[in-house]
Amino acid sequence: MSPTVETRDRLRIAIQKSGRLADPARALLASCGLSWRESRDRLFCYGEALPIDLLLVRDDDIPGLIADGVCDLGVVGRNVLREQDFERRRSGTPTAFRELRPLGFGACRLALAVPDDWTWTGPTQLEGRRIATTYPALLRDWLAGEGIQADVVTLSGSVEIAPRLGQADLICDLVSSGVTLAANQLKPVATLLESEAVLAGPASEFEGERAALAEMLLRRLDGALRTRHSKLLLFQAERSSIAQLLPLLPDADAPTVLQVDGADRLALQALCHGHLTWQRLEDLKRAGAQGLMVLPVESMLA
Ligand code: ATP
Ligand code: ZN
Repeated sequence: MSPTVETRDRLRIAIQKSGRLADPARALLASCGLSWRESRDRLFCYGEALPIDLLLVRDDDIPGLIADGVCDLGVVGRNVLREQDFERRRSGTPTAFRELRPLGFGACRLALAVPDDWTWTGPTQLEGRRIATTYPALLRDWLAGEGIQADVVTLSGSVEIAPRLGQADLICDLVSSGVTLAANQLKPVATLLESEAVLAGPASEFEGERAALAEMLLRRLDGALRTRHSKLLLFQAERSSIAQLLPLLPDADAPTVLQVDGADRLALQALCHGHLTWQRLEDLKRAGAQGLMVLPVESMLA
């Protein structure tokens, strides 16, 4: 039996085997109620709690595995997904995958970086220059948009040392803190793409059992992503203070209001999505809130 036939009723998610996205991807999926039995080769993890299996691979293989139908979903950097999408378009291959959700980790940007001693005056400075990168399709697309003719030097790694080795004049590479660039006497000057880990899926819709599983997973994922920074705020207040209190909760869902005794004393609960700092709690207290309590949110299903 071929792998796709064998897994027709199960969902298969590709994640990075090891690297920056491996642990956060697993943790996020586990927070959606998934659990797995590890295999000895640690390439395939059989889903126990739900019929959702994991395939542990190199991140660069994930878009192709989705395109070929070997996997249904994948957790991969937007940078990798876009690069492979642009590459397929350039070669006339139909788009086979798409970004379903940004996942809020693995943040970085694809940036142009020039030697420290350059004075950056703008993209026209790049005309006729050699630019080293592992993202040639994204870089070519950006250069075309800027109307610049430059020489794209495609490397498979260690892009940041290319200028010192005389392979290129500048580079186009992923940057997060900028420490690696600085260590190589380079400075970022333009951002081509803001990236983070995303959930990728096929361009077409799922069918049958897998459609229901994927829908459930996305629902849980949305809940997990929402609750990540959410807190439940409880307090009491007089009805007359509500007008002063609500503007202090712009990031909250419409609060639930209960009557405590008589008509004037109310108990409120509000789900807040921003930071509930001590300062905000003090502002709320000053505006009439009493018995303020902030609770963590364990899970949520909209
Ligand atoms: P693999 O063996 O799976 O091919 P890799 O070396 O390509 O691993 P990592 O270095 O683990 O991959 O990076 C995976 C992803 O992490 C990147 O594609 C990118 O989306 C994200 N990322 C976040 N910050 C950075 C950074 N500073 N440098 C590189 N990637 C980053
Ligand atoms: Zn990789």
